[in-house]
Amino acid sequence: MRRTGTDRRVPLGCWPTPVEPAPRLARALGLGADDLWIKRDDLTGLGGGGNKVRKLEWTCGQALAEGATVLVTTGAAQSNHARLTAAAGARLGVDVVLVLAGTPQSEATGNLALDGLLGATVVWAGDIPGPELVSKASELAEQVRRRGGVPALIPFGGSSVSGARGYAECGRELRTQLPELRTVVTAVGSGGTMAGLVAELGAERVLGVDCGAVRDPARTVSRFAAGVSGQPCPPEDLRLRRDQVGDGYSRLTGPVMDALLLAARTEGLLLDPVYTGRALAGLAAAVRDGGIVAGERTVLLHSGGLPGLFGHPAALKQAEAALHGERS
Ligand SMILES: *Cc1c(COP(=O)(O)O)cnc(C)c1O
Repeated sequence: MRRTGTDRRVPLGCWPTPVEPAPRLARALGLGADDLWIKRDDLTGLGGGGNKVRKLEWTCGQALAEGATVLVTTGAAQSNHARLTAAAGARLGVDVVLVLAGTPQSEATGNLALDGLLGATVVWAGDIPGPELVSKASELAEQVRRRGGVPALIPFGGSSVSGARGYAECGRELRTQLPELRTVVTAVGSGGTMAGLVAELGAERVLGVDCGAVRDPARTVSRFAAGVSGQPCPPEDLRLRRDQVGDGYSRLTGPVMDALLLAARTEGLLLDPVYTGRALAGLAAAVRDGGIVAGERTVLLHSGGLPGLFGHPAALKQAEAALHGERS
């Protein structure tokens, strides 16, 4: 039986994810002890957890409805989305092909090592820009089809109107868990996470911190948010900070390393150097410039990504320096 068309969801995670207060981190940032809460979307359950699980419930649901036997997706070598697509494929009993930017790595660390454990096939696409990575994925999907399989292309970062629906659901959880929520802060990569939150909570209650993964994050987020909510979402209405990108996607910055150390040492909370560290660095900057104020309830979305720390040589070097007391 082949069903097509409408959006479907396949269960992959553990819901709702918890929220917990972060009083020591709040105080260190200059907020009141009860002002800052963490939404633990690092605890989504599947494959080490992280925000991609919510989006995969929708994109994989659609793929299965279309009879898919192979999931094909794209990403960087340390892509959390690639790792979680591999985990979703294992859970759902379908093969996974990961088309990764770059060349074969001499050492498989972090997410890449987990891709191997999870049984995904990795195809290295070379050092090519995003659009070419997508063409390469389409080519591989075509090869699957010629061999009699049914491929489904899962979009970059799992972000599409369909994938973003998973984050509208997260917004609904937050409404129930913290009704007085003023601002939820999230890292922005491929945009679906912020888009779903905006669709549910409104643009004024979501602060996105760009990580430099896409060229025009505001347009990307607004397009997905409008698709989910059915309402226009002008890019200029979004609260989007672009001051934490630094030298570019996945490059470690001083404020991000400070954020990693601060979260770890005040709350025992482990962030990653690409996304959640930027989100906290952006939150800290927003407290400094008045975008976030004491006395209002702020939520930091912990979107996962810890495996990426173990595949990030610069961050590991800083952690080692801290171990030797050279960084505090
Ligand atoms: C992908 C990712 C994000 C960004 O989410 P998008 O929906 O791609 O914008 C944030 N945090 C982590 C840990 C991620 O892996």
